[in-house]
Order: sequence, then structure tokens, then C-alpha cells
Amino acid sequence: MKIYNTLTRKKEEFVPIEPGKVRMYVCGPTVYNLIHIGNARPMIFFDTVRRYFEHRNYQVNYVSNFTDVDDKIIKKAQEEGVDASVISQRYIAECKKDMEGMNILPATTHPLATQEIDGMIQMISQLIEKGYAYVVEDGTVYFRVRKFAGYGKLSGKNLDDLRSGNRSLLVTGEEQKEDPMDFVLWKPKKEGEPYWESPWCQGRPGWHIECSVMSKKYLGEQIDIHGGGEDLVFPHHENEIAQSEAASGKEFAHYWMHNAFLNIDNKKMSKSLGNFFTVRDISEKYDLQVLRFFMLSAHYRSPLNFSGDLMEAAKNGLERIRNGAERLREAAKSGAGEPMTEEQKAAADAFVDKFDAAMDDDFNTADAIAAVFELVKYANTQAAEGLSRAFASYLSQILTELCGILGIETEKQEELLDAEIEALIEERQAARKAKDFARADAIRNQLAAQGILLEDTREGVKWKRA
Ligand code: AMP
Ligand code: ZN
Repeated sequence: MKIYNTLTRKKEEFVPIEPGKVRMYVCGPTVYNLIHIGNARPMIFFDTVRRYFEHRNYQVNYVSNFTDVDDKIIKKAQEEGVDASVISQRYIAECKKDMEGMNILPATTHPLATQEIDGMIQMISQLIEKGYAYVVEDGTVYFRVRKFAGYGKLSGKNLDDLRSGNRSLLVTGEEQKEDPMDFVLWKPKKEGEPYWESPWCQGRPGWHIECSVMSKKYLGEQIDIHGGGEDLVFPHHENEIAQSEAASGKEFAHYWMHNAFLNIDNKKMSKSLGNFFTVRDISEKYDLQVLRFFMLSAHYRSPLNFSGDLMEAAKNGLERIRNGAERLREAAKSGAGEPMTEEQKAAADAFVDKFDAAMDDDFNTADAIAAVFELVKYANTQAAEGLSRAFASYLSQILTELCGILGIETEKQEELLDAEIEALIEERQAARKAKDFARADAIRNQLAAQGILLEDTREGVKWKRA
């Protein structure tokens, strides 16, 4: 199995630290809003990586955090006049709903930064003791980059170049830094901000230390894979390496994997350009597994462009697979009774080999999907000639398994009957009356996932099939 390692800039054979086990950490979202479809790319991709390792019989310990203390969360809390934890809890719950829609399995652990402050204080203290960090007058603690010999090894950046580029960036309050590239490990609170006690000042951790600490706590000092979007290579991951390796004296992560960005209409997705979609927006029009299928249709290291046309193509492709699966399920019930031949089994297994070969080559999901389409095409041709129950059942099992690795369900969700829809709408109205908005939203989403759109009108709730 080969993985492209950002650290060495080449594809390398995957050799786990412990045979049969994978320890993987992926940086999760900052929870101050609904997640956007860009955030969904690493979530979908690394969930697929995890599923593939499991298919290859590895035991995967997969950790992905929620960053639940951050300037953006605090700003939003101040705007709404609530505690920062109200904002982060709300958007963690929303994120989990979206993950479920995209068929993303919960990680082994989803740690929260705010629950791990003790570990952060410990690691920062250790870094100070070892001379890798220092405290300045106002109680801010900085990491001393020039003390860490490997600084820049992940991003390929050179400290001298970085320094000269950043001299002018020294902003007020940062004059006490020894070096413009030194970064914050702990910072003093500002009025109205959440804070924790520490040996240096009442304050909160810097973003980078959070991941180093959560990764160490749940996976140990050394891990196999660390992942995230390519924007995180510098400074976030570079700084994580500096902190973790300075503290432990050991190599932190063996393989560094980064997904390329998702763009919209060939432009960078941004709120100001107005080309910005949340996963929730997409769920109003599509089954979120279509979004998942679309994301996996490109290799993770290629930039991916989101457009209505490509989503339609993904929807049609997924439908083709599901129709093929349905046909196989039918044949598995009604086909002839003869046993599957050796040749038939070999022909079917060849698709699995093709799929695995694609995934073994740095998780080439695009080629893996091509193998699934070939299997569907083959099954359709065979079905036209009449499939035996045994062979249809075998093909069906393989198709479901391969789709399962991609996190795609082959069985179409049962269409809701009108009466069931009406009953759900009534339940939603009751939930709203009882101010149980979470339940009300869940029902709306459940209906949306089935293509049922609700419209609240003066005469009551109207619904239609999309
Ligand atoms: P953030 O909440 O900004 O820290 O992002 C959470 C994760 O989403 C990180 O791994 C980012 O690299 C990733 N990410 C953010 N925007 C995009 C995008 N447009 N395309 C792909 N990945 C993204
Ligand atoms: Zn991180």
C-alpha cells in the first residue's frame, strides 16, 4: 500500500508502527458555523481512508478533534450574548448531523480542545523546561523556533527566508518575541473571553498546541498518519511537528497526508464572493451521499471544482450503481438455481483486485470508482443474458462491499408513503410547539434526505416531492 507523504514528497510503502494497527489523527473543524463543503472534503476522504484500512483488516484508531475555543467562536458568542460553549456545542451537534448525512463514521474519539487544557499546560511546561519555549512579561508563552533544528521540514520552508518575509509582520504586542517566527503556545485572556488558570497567566492555548496534545493523549507520542487540508501544512502542521518532537524527542507522525482544496466554479470558495455553500445547503437538494460520491470522484491531491453540472453527473452515476445493485438483488432472488462457476467467481474477484490496486496507489478513489462502474456494467450485461441466483448474489455482495468502502450505500432508501410524511410533519409541528427545535430540524432533514420539501405557509405546512 503506497501513500504520498508530504514530508518526504514521495509515495512510500505504508509500514505501520505496530503491525495490523493504524493510528491516525485528522485536524477537525473550528465550530462557529455550519460546516461548508470545503470542510467536508477532508472528512469524507479520511473516513474513506479509515474504511479502506479496515477492509484490509487493520484496526484503526482514528482521532479527529473539534476546535471549540477560537477567536471566531468567541466573536459569535459575543454577538449572540451567549457563552462560547453554547456556540461550539450547537455547531458540533450540527456538524455531527451533516456527518451522518454524508455517511461519515464517528471517529474512535472526537476530542474537544477545551476538555484537554491540563494536557496542554503540561506539554507547554515541558517545552519551557527543555528550553523550547519562553514566557514574556504579559504571560504569553512562545515556542522558540530556532531551537528546533527540523523547523521547516514539512513545508520545505527555510527559517531565514521566513524571517525576512515576516519581519514587517511583527504586530503590536508581539515585540517581546525573540524571533518573528516564534508562535504562541499560551496567551493571556482579553476582557470577556473564556480563560483557564495556568502557571503563566489566566488565558487560553494557541491553536497548534491543541492538536499536538490531543494526538498524544489518544494515540501516543508517535502516530502513523496525520492528515488535513493542504492549507494546514504551514504553519499549523509545521508547528505541531516542532512542539511534539521537541517534547518527546521522537518522530511525531510518519506519514503526512493533505487533501487539495475544493473550489467553486473554478474560484476559491469564499463568503465575500458569494460562492459559498454549507453542507446543509446541499442537503436541501441532494442526498448527501451524492456529495460524498462527487468528492471521491477525484483524487484527493487534485483540486476539485464544485459545480451544479458535476453534482448532477455524480447523482446520475450513483443512480446507475444503485440501479445495478437493485437488479442484482432481484436476480439473487429470482435467477436460475445453478451454482456459480470458477470462471464467474474469478471474473467477479478481478473487480475487487482492480479496486484494491487503485486504493493501494495512494487512495486513488477516482480509479476505484471506475472499477465499480466496470463491475456494474459487467453485471448489467450478465443480467441481460440471465444470471444464476448464486452468481447474482456474489456480484451483489462484492458491489455492496466496494461501495461500502467508499461510504456509499447501494440500497435506495425506501420511499416514504404520503401518510408517513403527514405523520412526520405533525410530529414536527408538535416538537416546534414544545420548543424542541433539534427534533423539529431532525425531522425536516430526514424528510429532505428523502426529497420531501416543506414549506411553512399561513395555512399550515405544505409539502412536495423534489
Ligand atoms: P477549519 O475549520 O478552517 O480549520 O478547516 C477544517 C478542515 O477543512 C481543515 O482540514 C481544512 O484544511 C479543510 N478545508 C477548509 N476549506 C477547505 C476547502 N475549500 N477545500 C478542502 N478542504 C478545506
Ligand atoms: Zn490540527
